[in-house]
Amino acid sequence: MTKHTQLHDAMIIGGGPAGLSAGLVLGRARKHVVIMDEGRPRNHVTRETHGFLTRDGVSPAEFRSIAREQIQAYPSVRFVEESAVSVAGSDGDFQVTTSQGKVYRAKKLLFAVGKKDRLPVIEGLGDVYGKSAFVCPYCDGWELRDQPLVVIAKGEGAVHFAKVIAGWSDRYTICTNGPDEMTAEQREDLKRHNIPVYDTPIRLIDSSNGLVQQVVLEDGTRLPCTGIFFAPQLVTGSDLPASIGCQLNEAGSVIVDSFGKTNVPGVYSAGDAATEMYQAIVAASMGSMAAAGLNSELLMENWNRK
Ligand SMILES: Cc1cc2nc3c(=O)[nH]c(=O)nc-3n(C[C@H](O)[C@H](O)[C@H](O)COP(=O)(O)OP(=O)(O)OC[C@H]3O[C@@H](n4cnc5c(N)ncnc54)[C@H](O)[C@@H]3O)c2cc1C
Repeated sequence: MTKHTQLHDAMIIGGGPAGLSAGLVLGRARKHVVIMDEGRPRNHVTRETHGFLTRDGVSPAEFRSIAREQIQAYPSVRFVEESAVSVAGSDGDFQVTTSQGKVYRAKKLLFAVGKKDRLPVIEGLGDVYGKSAFVCPYCDGWELRDQPLVVIAKGEGAVHFAKVIAGWSDRYTICTNGPDEMTAEQREDLKRHNIPVYDTPIRLIDSSNGLVQQVVLEDGTRLPCTGIFFAPQLVTGSDLPASIGCQLNEAGSVIVDSFGKTNVPGVYSAGDAATEMYQAIVAASMGSMAAAGLNSELLMENWNRK
């Protein structure tokens, strides 16, 4: 085990929009920071990131590469491309151990570990995910506007999706992919809006070069479409926040105040890890806020020590 004895000001675990944004703010605040990232961002499947002012349409990889290039102008920030596997210690001296057995020390921790999507098990979904099947209309609805779509969702989630997708297309069908708990009233509401609902399980998604052509149901029904929206199950990007005592809400998000502070002294969280509003620009904004909160705490501690 290699122990890095330098006590950094902060360790940021996760180098997506949230962690990188925090790194930029802390670098400019002259703090010694490690950004540790294992390189598995939520949106790795997509070709383009949309809705981030000045970066609309760039690939997730290009987004990160521009961010890293700009952060590298601040020499007190270093990047470590490893997984953090455990955290120990307390406010003022946390120890983060990596998958390669190295140990980094930092006064404060910032979890920007994101969330992970668990896809429904449907043959062919992996071929179209991120190319013509998406999870969020704010991210990818514009590209699929006015097109024939299939929404794969269940229950209350299906009804909510139906109402939201209506902002981008009025040609869509709901597939619950098996028996569903939607109430008669909800079904009537969808019927009134001329939205067909199919309960038959999906046999497969037919596509060519990542572009969906039709959704085929177990009973042979074919639903031609050029795009899919579906609701994945979301889980926390890492168990580390919980392992050190951070409280999570029912959605698995770390509970934070407006400056990203958790219930554990010296521990912050930002981005998808700490919200259910999944947008890169929101994650970056939360990272910036958390960095300001964390920096302010360091400054006050330093001030009071003298
Ligand atoms: C298919 C899809 C398309 C999307 N399209 C858009 C879009 O067009 N526009 C938009 O605004 N948003 C989009 N999003 C949402 C967007 O991806 C997220 O809101 C954003 O990535 C959140 O940033 P983050 O920094 O919180 O997390 P992430 O970007 O997920 O980054 C978290 C990082 O932490 C790392 N990590 C986790 N645990 C550890 C650990 N233990 N050690 C080291 N590293 C760790 C991960 O590997 C990852 O690199 C999309 C999401 C999906 C799923």
